[in-house]
Amino acid sequence: MSILLIHTGGTIGMVQTPSGFSPQTGVVEQAISDLKHSGACPRDVDVHLLTPLIDSANATPAEWGRIAALIADHHAQYSGFVVTHGTDTLAYSAAALGFALQGLDKPVIVTGAMLPLSVKGSDGMRNLADAIAAAPSAPAGIWVQFAGQRLHGVRTRKSHSTEFDAFRDTPGTAPPCQPGETLRVHGFGSAKVAILAMAPGMPTDLFQHAARDCDALLLRVYGSGTAPESQGLAMALQIANRRDIPVLAVSQCAEGGMALGTYAAGAILRAHGVIDGRDMTVEAAYAKLHHVLALPVSERARLTRPLCGEYSA
Ligand code: ASP
Repeated sequence: MSILLIHTGGTIGMVQTPSGFSPQTGVVEQAISDLKHSGACPRDVDVHLLTPLIDSANATPAEWGRIAALIADHHAQYSGFVVTHGTDTLAYSAAALGFALQGLDKPVIVTGAMLPLSVKGSDGMRNLADAIAAAPSAPAGIWVQFAGQRLHGVRTRKSHSTEFDAFRDTPGTAPPCQPGETLRVHGFGSAKVAILAMAPGMPTDLFQHAARDCDALLLRVYGSGTAPESQGLAMALQIANRRDIPVLAVSQCAEGGMALGTYAAGAILRAHGVIDGRDMTVEAAYAKLHHVLALPVSERARLTRPLCGEYSA
């Protein structure tokens, strides 16, 4: 029943410094030791630090790949995994692990804290203890454990910047887990993916630069899938089509998702072959594009298939 805790950084393990909260080794390790001594957590929890510890604002797909590789390397040895992570980009990493770990048959519980363990009144100890309790017993897949809730790891978003109860998910119909006979790890490359949000009257010709320079575009469109029928957007989509790069769209609304084709004002998207991201979170859609761009071209059709419960069936 042993558990591997992978500590990546984030508020949970930070201390106050002259320039603000910053990650420090020893904080999470001490908390685990305290939990073991109080009997609140089993003795066979091993801690692995992903060095350097970072504020998750500095995470990149390379960090997602490092976490996934560590889990894969130790998959047979442990009955569950806990990943402690900064909350700012926790939802991106959790979604990315869903795409990276095909055939995962153990729980991976991602958690963090809004206040450092080193600060009185922190939520860190509770989240840590809950995550460790869930690690051997939750169903296989990627879960976010936060403020007493266990959330679907590929459908979670940070919804509050200060409250302890900072995450929400859209309950999924499929578990946060990619089926597979054996474990296969998909790494991440160095693709350039641009997230382009629109607003009324915004100069969408800016998008053309991204269409020329990036490997994929992720559009944040209005409501159920409308966009301004502007010359700037049309040109950007034509450039993307000519370069044969994927363009995926998700809604700016946190709930409900897309239904491309409902409005005539979405015609510009359909006419240029924009892929309907349905009710994927922006975090999951971004991670999925990075996942697919790192695959051989023959496997890129995965972009238009549900892989790990990232959108409602
Ligand atoms: N800036 C921190 C991080 O994402 C915030 C947190 O962990 O709550 O690493």
